Amino acid sequence: MIKVGINGYGTIGKRVADAVSCQEDMRVVGVVKTKPDFISKMAVKIYKLYTTYPENIKEFKNKGIEVEGTIDNLLDDVDVVVDASPEGIGAKNKIMYERHGVKAIFQGGETHELTGVSFNAQSNYKDALYKDYVRVVSCNTTGLCRTLKVIDELAGIKKVNATIIRRATDPGDSKKGPINAIEPVLKIPSHHGPDVKTVLPRIDISTMAVKVPTTLMHLHAITVDLIDKKTSLDDIINAFNEARRVILINGADRLASTAEIMEYARDLGRKRGDLFEIAVWRDGTNIKDGVLYYYQAIHQESDVVPENIDAIRAVMGMEDGEKSMDITDKNLGIIRSDITFN
Ligand code: NAD
Repeated sequence: MIKVGINGYGTIGKRVADAVSCQEDMRVVGVVKTKPDFISKMAVKIYKLYTTYPENIKEFKNKGIEVEGTIDNLLDDVDVVVDASPEGIGAKNKIMYERHGVKAIFQGGETHELTGVSFNAQSNYKDALYKDYVRVVSCNTTGLCRTLKVIDELAGIKKVNATIIRRATDPGDSKKGPINAIEPVLKIPSHHGPDVKTVLPRIDISTMAVKVPTTLMHLHAITVDLIDKKTSLDDIINAFNEARRVILINGADRLASTAEIMEYARDLGRKRGDLFEIAVWRDGTNIKDGVLYYYQAIHQESDVVPENIDAIRAVMGMEDGEKSMDITDKNLGIIRSDITFN
């Protein structure tokens, strides 16, 4: 049993905690919260709760929330910690993990340099084997790596251009915007392309990004100049169909927007309506003059969750990445098939 701690129990942390709980070979020892808010109240019903700052323990107790101790106490009792604290905080926390000799999985808000290993299970599982510190790349980079890896293996990639249409913020956040504007990311190329290269260094990719007033899902519009110009649309569809953690959808089946995809995810009955898979529009995919065009949608709150589980197994020494992904996918009920009605 791998003993796991979760430091930062927000959008990503709570999902990773629940995903760890579904695996037979690992368990959550405890989760860390900074404040005694409603999320702490929910967390303590399922997990042992620890707090970041000792001076806050009294505040938790005053609100009737039982706290086991501080993050230091938790770190004494785990093999690996998943750091899902806000962007940039993970870098500060690393010193603490080093002090306790605990392995750590960081998230995409941290820099590649923090760990030297940026991770996407399908792309570079082996790079994380036995490492002390690994960074699971962001939701957008995860989505790009998943499909680009498939295309590169099938046809070879000469050049990728992608536009990332980004959700403004997560559904539980009322502070950020825009709420009535479309905001281009003026720094070109956007950071997403270089981030893909931390996992798939060979891929020549440029990205632009636009922020839109929605809270559920990012959408990518991607063009790929293929090396093997004889690759057919059927070859691509078959490869996506067989790929792990990618599903094919059809706009014609009333899955024409992110809203409908999220409705589909809710109907799957998964906790929080999560969609771990990257949804690629089969009827929005085409090849013209050796260039592949496709759209994909990313559920930003959940696509990195299975990657965190595999990263835990990799750092703890499970050498067979396919086996780890098989177990993760089975336990999370991840779909591996074409869900279109063709
Ligand atoms: P979040 O704000 O939803 O959750 C972060 C949690 O950490 C909150 O509960 C916060 O109270 C807590 N926290 C604050 N300071 C802390 C500290 N010093 N120590 C421990 N916990 C602390 O953030 P999130 O969206 O879950 O993002 C976490 C990480 O995951 C970031 O690196 C982010 O870039 C990355 N990520 C986010 C998304 C997304 O779409 N939300 C997707 C992929 C990756």
